[in-house]
Amino acid sequence: MDKAGILMIISGPSGSGKGTVVNELLKDEQFALSISATTRNPRPGEIDGKHYFFKTKDEFKNLIEENMLLEWACFCDNYYGTPLKYVTDRLEEGRNVVLEIEVQGALQVKEKYPEAVLVFLIPPTLDELRKRLTNRATETAEVIEKRIERAGEEIELIDRYDYVVINERIDEAKRDILKIVCAEKMNVKRNENIKKLFKGESL
Ligand code: 5GP
Repeated sequence: MDKAGILMIISGPSGSGKGTVVNELLKDEQFALSISATTRNPRPGEIDGKHYFFKTKDEFKNLIEENMLLEWACFCDNYYGTPLKYVTDRLEEGRNVVLEIEVQGALQVKEKYPEAVLVFLIPPTLDELRKRLTNRATETAEVIEKRIERAGEEIELIDRYDYVVINERIDEAKRDILKIVCAEKMNVKRNENIKKLFKGESL
């Protein structure tokens, strides 16, 4: 079987519960999370280097110019991007790397790495989405509306994704994602060297 890790992207509207589902996945050693760079301000409790690498606009521009980002995008007036080296190093080690990123960035990654697996996480209803965003109380009403509007735009691109997972219960969403990883590991395209086995060679 192919020993390289899977590059898995999890997208979904703000309030879809991506962060919580991803944290659950990370309890398993096979997963590594890519920490993004962003120009947005830290929310209360967010730590530089743990939740994000918080950057000024100039610092972010430098990362782009020096080709240090795998992808980047502007989301609701802030820039977000994935540091490249961390991702490639972990994949080589055989870890599955999770990127929790928005749709534009996800599609850039799919262009560069067609073998990346794109998962779209959605809440069971729009009402639930609004409720989760409001209960989170980390954004102003204006930002919440902007994010809900953006969610409507993002769902239009769901056809470009490989899988959709409905996040009604965290444990079930996690289980569904683990099933996707399991199936992907067995995908023939990832196991082209399997033919060697029948020529008496080791894999
Ligand atoms: P938040 O501000 O809520 O932390 O993130 C806003 C959006 O940016 C979310 O959809 C999140 O998945 C996305 N995001 C976080 N990091 C990255 C990144 O490195 N690249 C891209 N394209 N989107 C990101």
